[in-house]
Amino acid sequence: MRYISTRGQAAPRDFEGVLLAGLAEDGGLFMPETWPTLTAADWRALRGLPYAELATRLMRHFVGDCVAEADLRRMCVDAYAGFNHAAVVPLVQLDERTHALELFHGPTLAFKDLALQLVGRLFDHALARRGERITIIGPTSGDTGSAAIEACRDRAAIDIVIIHPLGRTSEVQRRQMTTVHSPNVANLAIEGDFDACQDAVKAMFNNAPFRTEMKLAAVNSINWARIAAQIPYYAAAALALGAPDRPVAVSVPSGNFGNVMAAYAAMRMGLPIDRFIVGSNRNDILTRFLAANDMSARRVEPSLSPSMDIQVSSNFERLLFELLGRDPVACESQMTRFRAEGRMPVPDAAWRAATARFTGFALGDEGTLEEMRRLHRESGYVADPHTAVGSAAARAHPGERGIPMVVAATAHPAKFPDAVRAALGHAPALPPHLADLFEREERYAVLPNELAGIEAFVRGHARRNA
Ligand SMILES: *Cc1c(COP(=O)(O)O)cnc(C)c1O
Repeated sequence: MRYISTRGQAAPRDFEGVLLAGLAEDGGLFMPETWPTLTAADWRALRGLPYAELATRLMRHFVGDCVAEADLRRMCVDAYAGFNHAAVVPLVQLDERTHALELFHGPTLAFKDLALQLVGRLFDHALARRGERITIIGPTSGDTGSAAIEACRDRAAIDIVIIHPLGRTSEVQRRQMTTVHSPNVANLAIEGDFDACQDAVKAMFNNAPFRTEMKLAAVNSINWARIAAQIPYYAAAALALGAPDRPVAVSVPSGNFGNVMAAYAAMRMGLPIDRFIVGSNRNDILTRFLAANDMSARRVEPSLSPSMDIQVSSNFERLLFELLGRDPVACESQMTRFRAEGRMPVPDAAWRAATARFTGFALGDEGTLEEMRRLHRESGYVADPHTAVGSAAARAHPGERGIPMVVAATAHPAKFPDAVRAALGHAPALPPHLADLFEREERYAVLPNELAGIEAFVRGHARRNA
């Protein structure tokens, strides 16, 4: 399996090259040169497998010769052994048509664990084979940091420093990061806001000698390996609901478009996904694009579903590449224009191709709370605010009778206790593995927002020559 850049200027490479590179040198994103496709008989043969085995059999199409199958299987088994549900991604029926696909039974209670738990192991495996180490640095406003820490903790070839804004994350979010005491994990709080954290990380990457010395790497949501590792759960849900002999529709609360992209990739592999519903909060650029070809970025506004407070969805470029018939020159010029002007008119044929499969839906905070109440009233289901957006989006699109609707339930409700309390009047309990989160000892450093001190902290933590 070879991968090409959406902008056509980077040399094609194999899975390991794509895993370690993240972004392509030309600024584009890597995509499989051709989609691996499974026949209906192939899909049927995957029914009823344990999740780790299903993941192994689907991931091997993307990994190619880079990882021996036995190693891949061991990594998948390890990655999902830490989930606290035997099904890993259980389906919960909400009404006659709708099913929640619960993606939050991993260590940090959000769907990012499904990809990152595997990708952390794939990173470690590739680095060990090459005899290399890396230092991952990342800014976080709360959610991504804990998933990255859990994915990288105790990995032999990786050190990780996560930088959060002092006093500006929720207490659950902070504790999920700062109570991990692995020797290769460090937490740093900066006296500043999230932008200050992001600027510090950018400045370290732009400091070429420092970057090389520390072997800096990022946990990018644009890494193809993350998308690939999200395909198996769509397969698990669709197969359980009758695919390949019965189509399904999916509704996904979307931020960077990675999760929707994985569902799209599953469809390209031959899984009959009939419709993609893209949910957003008041940051509704994708909804405006799908409704009226209005792809124009506005200012990001905070909402009850903070993981979707995004205007420029980095993975949208992958869909655009597909919509433009995989023409890298057209994709490059569209994206350059978008970066420069904050808007892009997508050619009419490409926009129509998008609307043939994708439907957008946006919901404000009040509507989100109302949907959380409705779900609880009608089926006793306690949804987090992101999942509620996905569920409302699914309801807004009635679809065809007999086609089941899968709503991606992207976070555990206990991760957003304030929103759940506002909707239902009580907050859900944390699951057993996190029940003592508030008693655990926290460790993190606090530094002023000054680059020299931050770099010294990272240097002190990186075991680059170990
Ligand atoms: C990251 C996240 C999202 C957005 O996912 P994308 O792949 O960026 O679209 C939605 N919900 C939750 C809870 C998340 O953590």
